[in-house]
Amino acid sequence: MKICTLSSGSKGNCTYVESGDQAVLIDQGLSLRELEKRAAGVGLDLGKVRLIAVTHEHTDHIKGVQAFCDKYGVKAFISPISCAAAYQKYAITSVLETSAFDLGTAVGDMYITPFRVHHDAAYTVGFQIEDGKKTLCTATDLGYVTAAAGKRMSRADAVLLESNHDKQMLQNGKYPYSLKVRIAGKEGHLSNDDAADVGVKLVQAGVKRIILAHLSQDNNTPATAYNTVVSAMTAAHITQGRDVKVDVAFQFEPSLLTEIV
Ligand SMILES: [Zn+2]
Ligand SMILES: [Zn+2]
Repeated sequence: MKICTLSSGSKGNCTYVESGDQAVLIDQGLSLRELEKRAAGVGLDLGKVRLIAVTHEHTDHIKGVQAFCDKYGVKAFISPISCAAAYQKYAITSVLETSAFDLGTAVGDMYITPFRVHHDAAYTVGFQIEDGKKTLCTATDLGYVTAAAGKRMSRADAVLLESNHDKQMLQNGKYPYSLKVRIAGKEGHLSNDDAADVGVKLVQAGVKRIILAHLSQDNNTPATAYNTVVSAMTAAHITQGRDVKVDVAFQFEPSLLTEIV
Protein backbone atom coordinates (compact mmCIF):
# COMPACT_ATOMS: atom_id res chain seq x y z
CA MET A 1 0.00 0.00 0.00
CA LYS A 2 1.23 3.46 -0.89
CA ILE A 3 0.19 6.87 0.39
CA CYS A 4 0.55 10.43 -0.84
CA THR A 5 -0.85 13.43 1.03
CA LEU A 6 -1.88 15.94 -1.62
CA SER A 7 -3.16 18.59 0.77
CA SER A 8 -3.71 18.74 4.51
CA GLY A 9 -5.23 21.50 6.63
CA SER A 10 -8.22 23.81 6.84
CA LYS A 11 -7.66 25.10 3.28
CA GLY A 12 -8.25 21.66 1.79
CA ASN A 13 -7.62 17.98 2.46
CA CYS A 14 -6.95 15.15 0.06
CA THR A 15 -4.97 11.95 0.55
CA TYR A 16 -4.29 9.38 -2.18
CA VAL A 17 -3.95 5.72 -1.17
CA GLU A 18 -3.00 3.05 -3.68
CA SER A 19 -2.82 -0.73 -3.61
CA GLY A 20 -1.95 -2.60 -6.80
CA ASP A 21 -3.54 -0.87 -9.77
CA GLN A 22 -6.38 0.77 -7.84
CA ALA A 23 -6.53 3.79 -5.59
CA VAL A 24 -8.87 5.76 -3.35
CA LEU A 25 -8.93 9.36 -2.25
CA ILE A 26 -9.66 10.22 1.34
CA ASP A 27 -11.57 13.53 1.11
CA GLN A 28 -11.31 16.00 -1.76
CA GLY A 29 -11.28 19.57 -0.57
CA LEU A 30 -9.29 21.03 -3.49
CA SER A 31 -10.43 22.41 -6.81
CA LEU A 32 -10.10 19.83 -9.55
CA ARG A 33 -7.48 21.95 -11.26
CA GLU A 34 -5.34 22.22 -8.14
CA LEU A 35 -5.69 18.51 -7.39
CA GLU A 36 -4.66 17.52 -10.91
CA LYS A 37 -1.72 19.91 -10.82
CA ARG A 38 -0.43 18.48 -7.54
CA ALA A 39 -1.04 14.88 -8.61
CA ALA A 40 0.84 15.42 -11.87
CA GLY A 41 3.68 17.05 -9.96
CA VAL A 42 4.36 13.87 -8.01
CA GLY A 43 3.51 11.46 -10.83
CA LEU A 44 0.18 10.13 -9.53
CA ASP A 45 -2.25 8.58 -11.97
CA LEU A 46 -5.67 9.83 -10.86
CA GLY A 47 -7.19 7.39 -13.39
CA LYS A 48 -6.48 4.66 -10.82
CA VAL A 49 -8.88 6.25 -8.31
CA ARG A 50 -12.04 4.18 -7.90
CA LEU A 51 -13.67 5.88 -4.91
CA ILE A 52 -13.54 8.95 -2.68
CA ALA A 53 -14.04 8.17 1.00
CA VAL A 54 -15.38 11.30 2.72
CA THR A 55 -14.78 11.86 6.42
CA HIS A 56 -17.35 14.64 6.99
CA GLU A 57 -19.15 17.52 5.35
CA HIS A 58 -16.86 20.45 6.21
CA THR A 59 -15.79 22.45 3.15
CA ASP A 60 -12.09 21.61 3.44
CA HIS A 61 -12.95 17.91 2.99
CA ILE A 62 -15.85 17.92 0.57
CA LYS A 63 -15.58 20.92 -1.74
CA GLY A 64 -14.14 19.07 -4.73
CA VAL A 65 -15.78 15.67 -4.29
CA GLN A 66 -18.59 15.94 -6.83
CA ALA A 67 -16.39 17.61 -9.48
CA PHE A 68 -13.95 14.70 -9.20
CA CYS A 69 -16.76 12.13 -9.32
CA ASP A 70 -18.16 13.78 -12.47
CA LYS A 71 -14.86 13.86 -14.32
CA TYR A 72 -13.47 10.48 -13.27
CA GLY A 73 -16.75 8.54 -13.11
CA VAL A 74 -16.32 7.40 -9.51
CA LYS A 75 -18.61 7.39 -6.46
CA ALA A 76 -18.28 8.94 -3.04
CA PHE A 77 -18.34 6.71 0.00
CA ILE A 78 -20.02 9.06 2.46
CA SER A 79 -22.30 8.59 5.44
CA PRO A 80 -25.96 9.41 4.72
CA ILE A 81 -25.87 11.95 7.57
CA SER A 82 -22.85 13.83 6.13
CA CYS A 83 -24.39 13.71 2.67
CA ALA A 84 -27.66 15.20 3.92
CA ALA A 85 -25.82 17.83 5.95
CA ALA A 86 -23.75 18.86 2.90
CA TYR A 87 -26.68 18.98 0.50
CA GLN A 88 -27.39 22.73 0.49
CA LYS A 89 -23.82 23.73 -0.17
CA TYR A 90 -22.11 20.71 -1.70
CA ALA A 91 -24.67 18.33 -3.14
CA ILE A 92 -23.04 14.94 -3.62
CA THR A 93 -25.10 13.05 -6.19
CA SER A 94 -22.60 10.28 -7.03
CA VAL A 95 -22.98 8.33 -3.81
CA LEU A 96 -21.94 4.73 -3.41
CA GLU A 97 -24.98 2.76 -2.31
CA THR A 98 -24.23 0.40 0.52
CA SER A 99 -26.42 -1.60 2.86
CA ALA A 100 -24.74 0.16 5.78
CA PHE A 101 -22.00 2.79 5.59
CA ASP A 102 -20.48 1.65 8.88
CA LEU A 103 -19.75 -1.83 7.53
CA GLY A 104 -17.31 -0.42 5.01
CA THR A 105 -16.66 -1.24 1.38
CA ALA A 106 -14.10 -2.99 -0.83
CA VAL A 107 -12.01 -1.34 -3.56
CA GLY A 108 -9.76 -3.83 -5.37
CA ASP A 109 -7.49 -5.35 -2.72
CA MET A 110 -8.46 -2.69 -0.19
CA TYR A 111 -11.19 -2.77 2.39
CA ILE A 112 -12.22 0.58 3.81
CA THR A 113 -13.96 0.74 7.18
CA PRO A 114 -15.14 3.99 8.74
CA PHE A 115 -14.88 4.55 12.47
CA ARG A 116 -16.53 7.32 14.43
CA VAL A 117 -14.56 10.29 15.77
CA HIS A 118 -15.73 13.30 17.79
CA HIS A 119 -15.87 16.55 15.84
CA ASP A 120 -18.39 19.33 15.33
CA ALA A 121 -19.79 18.14 12.01
CA ALA A 122 -23.09 16.23 11.62
CA TYR A 123 -21.17 12.94 11.50
CA THR A 124 -17.39 12.49 11.32
CA VAL A 125 -15.34 9.38 10.72
CA GLY A 126 -11.78 8.24 10.37
CA PHE A 127 -11.00 5.46 7.91
CA GLN A 128 -9.16 2.18 8.28
CA ILE A 129 -7.82 0.86 4.97
CA GLU A 130 -6.48 -2.69 4.81
CA ASP A 131 -5.13 -4.50 1.75
CA GLY A 132 -4.27 -7.83 3.35
CA LYS A 133 -0.64 -6.76 3.82
CA LYS A 134 -0.75 -3.36 5.49
CA THR A 135 -3.25 -1.25 7.39
CA LEU A 136 -3.54 2.53 7.35
CA CYS A 137 -5.78 4.62 9.57
CA THR A 138 -6.67 8.25 9.01
CA ALA A 139 -7.81 10.39 11.93
CA THR A 140 -7.97 14.12 11.34
CA ASP A 141 -10.67 16.50 12.58
CA LEU A 142 -11.27 15.07 16.01
CA GLY A 143 -11.44 16.68 19.43
CA TYR A 144 -10.05 13.70 21.25
CA VAL A 145 -9.28 10.05 20.67
CA THR A 146 -11.92 7.70 22.07
CA ALA A 147 -10.88 4.29 23.38
CA ALA A 148 -12.48 2.61 20.36
CA ALA A 149 -10.74 4.87 17.84
CA GLY A 150 -7.43 4.50 19.69
CA LYS A 151 -7.73 0.71 19.65
CA ARG A 152 -8.38 0.65 15.94
CA MET A 153 -5.46 2.99 15.20
CA SER A 154 -3.12 0.96 17.39
CA ARG A 155 -3.57 -2.05 15.10
CA ALA A 156 -2.44 -0.10 12.03
CA ASP A 157 1.01 0.01 10.43
CA ALA A 158 0.65 3.70 9.60
CA VAL A 159 -1.58 6.45 10.95
CA LEU A 160 -2.38 9.83 9.45
CA LEU A 161 -2.90 11.68 12.72
CA GLU A 162 -4.13 15.19 13.34
CA SER A 163 -1.65 17.55 15.01
CA ASN A 164 -3.64 20.73 14.54
CA HIS A 165 -2.32 23.37 16.90
CA ASP A 166 0.20 24.35 19.49
CA LYS A 167 -1.86 25.12 22.62
CA GLN A 168 0.18 28.21 23.47
CA MET A 169 0.01 29.62 19.95
CA LEU A 170 -3.75 29.09 19.88
CA GLN A 171 -4.19 30.73 23.26
CA ASN A 172 -2.02 33.74 22.41
CA GLY A 173 -3.19 34.02 18.79
CA LYS A 174 -5.63 36.29 17.05
CA TYR A 175 -8.65 33.97 16.87
CA PRO A 176 -11.84 35.10 18.64
CA TYR A 177 -12.38 33.48 22.01
CA SER A 178 -15.33 31.37 20.77
CA LEU A 179 -13.22 29.89 17.98
CA LYS A 180 -10.36 29.14 20.38
CA VAL A 181 -12.81 27.27 22.61
CA ARG A 182 -14.22 25.39 19.62
CA ILE A 183 -10.80 24.29 18.32
CA ALA A 184 -9.49 23.22 21.73
CA GLY A 185 -12.77 21.50 22.70
CA LYS A 186 -13.77 17.87 22.65
CA GLU A 187 -15.42 18.28 19.26
CA GLY A 188 -12.62 20.36 17.77
CA HIS A 189 -9.11 19.44 16.74
CA LEU A 190 -6.21 17.52 18.30
CA SER A 191 -3.34 19.65 19.58
CA ASN A 192 0.33 18.80 19.13
CA ASP A 193 0.40 17.63 22.75
CA ASP A 194 -2.58 15.34 22.11
CA ALA A 195 -0.89 13.98 18.98
CA ALA A 196 2.28 13.39 21.01
CA ASP A 197 0.39 11.44 23.72
CA VAL A 198 -1.50 9.38 21.18
CA GLY A 199 1.58 8.96 19.00
CA VAL A 200 3.63 7.48 21.85
CA LYS A 201 0.88 4.97 22.62
CA LEU A 202 0.52 4.03 18.96
CA VAL A 203 4.24 3.39 18.52
CA GLN A 204 4.29 1.36 21.73
CA ALA A 205 1.48 -0.71 20.19
CA GLY A 206 3.52 -1.31 17.02
CA VAL A 207 2.61 1.51 14.63
CA LYS A 208 5.66 2.17 12.43
CA ARG A 209 4.72 5.38 10.70
CA ILE A 210 2.91 8.50 11.81
CA ILE A 211 2.08 11.30 9.42
CA LEU A 212 1.11 14.46 11.29
CA ALA A 213 -1.78 16.14 9.52
CA HIS A 214 -4.28 19.01 9.41
CA LEU A 215 -1.77 21.49 10.87
CA SER A 216 -3.15 24.98 11.46
CA GLN A 217 -1.59 27.74 9.36
CA ASP A 218 -2.08 30.24 12.21
CA ASN A 219 -1.50 28.24 15.38
CA ASN A 220 1.19 25.77 14.39
CA THR A 221 4.27 25.22 12.28
CA PRO A 222 5.53 21.95 10.81
CA ALA A 223 8.65 22.19 13.01
CA THR A 224 6.61 22.81 16.18
CA ALA A 225 4.31 19.85 15.52
CA TYR A 226 7.19 17.54 14.59
CA ASN A 227 9.37 18.57 17.54
CA THR A 228 6.54 18.24 20.06
CA VAL A 229 5.71 14.71 18.92
CA VAL A 230 9.31 13.52 18.50
CA SER A 231 10.37 14.98 21.89
CA ALA A 232 7.56 13.07 23.62
CA MET A 233 8.65 9.93 21.81
CA THR A 234 12.29 10.42 22.77
CA ALA A 235 11.23 10.85 26.42
CA ALA A 236 9.43 7.50 26.09
CA HIS A 237 12.64 5.90 24.69
CA ILE A 238 11.26 5.72 21.17
CA THR A 239 13.81 6.50 18.47
CA GLN A 240 12.57 8.32 15.40
CA GLY A 241 13.94 6.60 12.28
CA ARG A 242 14.39 3.28 14.06
CA ASP A 243 11.15 2.56 15.93
CA VAL A 244 8.95 4.89 13.92
CA LYS A 245 9.06 7.29 11.01
CA VAL A 246 7.34 10.59 11.71
CA ASP A 247 6.45 12.89 8.79
CA VAL A 248 4.40 16.03 8.40
CA ALA A 249 1.70 16.47 5.74
CA PHE A 250 1.66 19.97 4.24
CA GLN A 251 -1.13 22.30 3.19
CA PHE A 252 0.33 23.64 -0.02
CA GLU A 253 2.73 20.90 -1.12
CA PRO A 254 2.04 17.26 -1.92
CA SER A 255 4.20 14.58 -0.36
CA LEU A 256 5.90 11.92 -2.45
CA LEU A 257 4.06 8.65 -2.99
CA THR A 258 5.63 6.33 -0.45
CA GLU A 259 5.21 2.67 0.44
CA ILE A 260 3.81 1.80 3.85
CA VAL A 261 6.28 -0.70 5.31
ZN1 LIG B 1 -10.85 19.85 8.37
ZN1 LIG C 1 -13.85 19.46 10.12
